[in-house]
Amino acid sequence: MRKHIFNAGPCKLPDSTLENTANAVRELGNCGQSIMEVSHRSKDFQAVYDEAVSLFKELLNIPENYSVLFLGGGASTQFCMVPYNFLKKKAAFVNTGTWSTKAIKEAKLFGEAEVIASSEDKGFTFYPKDLQVPADADYLHLTSNNTIRGTEFFEDKSYDVPVICDMSSDIMSRPVDVSKYAMIYGGCQKNVGAAGVTFVIINNDFAKENLADRVIPTMLKYQTHIDKDSMFNTPPCINIFTVKETLKWVKANGGVEGMEKLAKQREEMLYAEIERNSMFKPVVEEGSRSRMNIPFLMADGKEDLMSDFIAFSEKHNICGIKGHRSVGGFRASTYNACSIEDVEALVACMKEYETLKA
Ligand SMILES: *Cc1c(COP(=O)(O)O)cnc(C)c1O
Repeated sequence: MRKHIFNAGPCKLPDSTLENTANAVRELGNCGQSIMEVSHRSKDFQAVYDEAVSLFKELLNIPENYSVLFLGGGASTQFCMVPYNFLKKKAAFVNTGTWSTKAIKEAKLFGEAEVIASSEDKGFTFYPKDLQVPADADYLHLTSNNTIRGTEFFEDKSYDVPVICDMSSDIMSRPVDVSKYAMIYGGCQKNVGAAGVTFVIINNDFAKENLADRVIPTMLKYQTHIDKDSMFNTPPCINIFTVKETLKWVKANGGVEGMEKLAKQREEMLYAEIERNSMFKPVVEEGSRSRMNIPFLMADGKEDLMSDFIAFSEKHNICGIKGHRSVGGFRASTYNACSIEDVEALVACMKEYETLKA
């Protein structure tokens, strides 16, 4: 039986993505070859690629002068590729947890990484607001959703310097004003497909005009991939297929507006239960709460029951709610494909647990 999946990534994907990918592994369309066998230079694969790019552009309403790239290496490679290409002297960072900390570490290999705001002193339980960005920074780096800590921002703002944002775990969960960003990137394995492909949305002028004056290996240069439509080398073909299928599903379910509505509904249902239930308590401050990752703890004095509740949830066909080791407790990841029924199952399980143990 299919479980109620709350994994943080890889995570739940729409049924249609799974079914259509399984079919394409057997045969892509009527081409007599599997998606794993067909040439990436063939018209059959080109059609898959073009549809994935055009759905990305359509769903996020991406302006004309941006490229959408599908690369390997995960978001983690972007942590070094961004400063390799664009850090001349100094970049500004907002430190909101594990992922931004990793991005800062890589940037320091290439220049100065100034942390202009941080929520570290409060255990990363809020998202810093009202940023003061130094005018001499080459760019500002943000992480829109903090997958591990469960904080998120929802407003796309302009700053005096170009903004580059890691949207690995909340892309396609709300409308985004792409024009406010020089670049947006992320691993596809949370909201848009299977692990193994990274999306990059990049302003073409920014990519040309803001290059740092250093030798950059060909594969690590954005311009290489912009010039060749992500086909400089063999792209992750099957993963791009899963992205296309997932974006078709997003479109059929009301686009990013539809996804946002469902995300709000899931978040409200789950937080309402965490607040109400005497066995549990929330971690993140109100006003900073993520719709995609919802961490919670056992209530004070009930800490010993943590592994008992995990086992209880597993008996209820729920998987993936064990918290990240750096936060402890629980984390329900409620990405786009997580259904209202999945959340209802978790809420019912929490209610039943309270009846048994409180
Ligand atoms: C998962 C995640 C990453 C890391 O992605 P990889 O594809 O595993 O390198 C980076 N940033 C955020 C916000 C994430 O959620």
